[in-house]
Amino acid sequence: MRWKEQLLTLTPYQPGKSIEAVKKQYKLDQIVKLASNENPFGCSEQVLTALQSNQTSLAIYPDGYTTNLRETLASFLQVDEDELIFGNGSDNLIQIISRALLHPNANSIMATPTFSQYKHNAVIEGAVSKEIPLLNGEHDLEAMLAAIDEQTNVIWLCSPNNPTGTYIPENKLIAFLEKVPSDILVVLDEAYFEYVVADDYYDSVNLARKYENLIVLRTFSKIYGLAALRIGYGVANRSIIKALEPAREPFNVNSLGQLAASAAIKDQEFIKVCKEKNRQGLEQFYQFCGENELDFYPSQTNFILIDCKMDGDQVFQHLLERGYIVRSGKALGFPTGVRITVGSYEQNVGVLKALGESLAISKTE
Ligand code: PMP
Repeated sequence: MRWKEQLLTLTPYQPGKSIEAVKKQYKLDQIVKLASNENPFGCSEQVLTALQSNQTSLAIYPDGYTTNLRETLASFLQVDEDELIFGNGSDNLIQIISRALLHPNANSIMATPTFSQYKHNAVIEGAVSKEIPLLNGEHDLEAMLAAIDEQTNVIWLCSPNNPTGTYIPENKLIAFLEKVPSDILVVLDEAYFEYVVADDYYDSVNLARKYENLIVLRTFSKIYGLAALRIGYGVANRSIIKALEPAREPFNVNSLGQLAASAAIKDQEFIKVCKEKNRQGLEQFYQFCGENELDFYPSQTNFILIDCKMDGDQVFQHLLERGYIVRSGKALGFPTGVRITVGSYEQNVGVLKALGESLAISKTE
């Protein structure tokens, strides 16, 4: 078969290890997964109630226009309904954007390390990826601007960035948007937006209304605790949405997901509580790093990248054997790091105890 040549250079996305696989392999009863930045507190009770009382027939295709969710979200964000696009997770929106704008004569610019799927989708479309190294863990916006050329069709910004947890301050983002030519789409991936507490963070939805070449991507997979139902959305002006819509597959957002996300938006108290608990959880990690003289990036997200000053795969393996699944920094561009999702108070205590043991063992090995 004549596969696209570039496909042969790719491996499928490597998700965090599954709980079931680890339980079986290590014969452990209790496994805690802190690898995929999911919400340790699950989702709002109101979502569960809505799902239980739902009348949705599984035999009927989902609403292809996402009518109710669109209405609820538009009103929540104070945007027009035609300024929204929905995806089967924000992964799907990254794919749609790539499909619509990238091809072998185009390039896209992104930071490195950042979320893997920008480059992955660019490769599938045969486009060149210009990867601009982070500067002290942050997007190097000057260098990203300098990388723009005639073939640049998309610039990917991940703020807060996965895997560093760092963000782009408002003044820097605005100065950047002012300079990007208006025929280049800037994608601002804000998967962790709801966790941000920084004072100099921006109002991205307002920016999307102001800059005609900006699309903001968000998701219900993180703080909303609905990763299994796969709902992401994009906010942009209506001409961007209109151009992207034909590249969206029909019925890409499932019925239960639409129902759950609509209910989830209505419970902002749950989001507030999760955000607060996350900040308290991050403090546990900061304290541990302070006590153990480990470097980390201050995080605006529900994960933290810690430099363990030893092989990230080795730390990962130690933690796995103690029942904690985290992400080795090795595959994420930080060979001596681990990325750990902030869990509940008890989960954090547990994983940090195990991490302390791993560090101690490594010193005696
Ligand atoms: N963007 C970023 C930065 C992410 O970390 C993730 C999840 N790992 C996604 C997008 C995709 O999230 P989802 O498809 O679940 O919405």
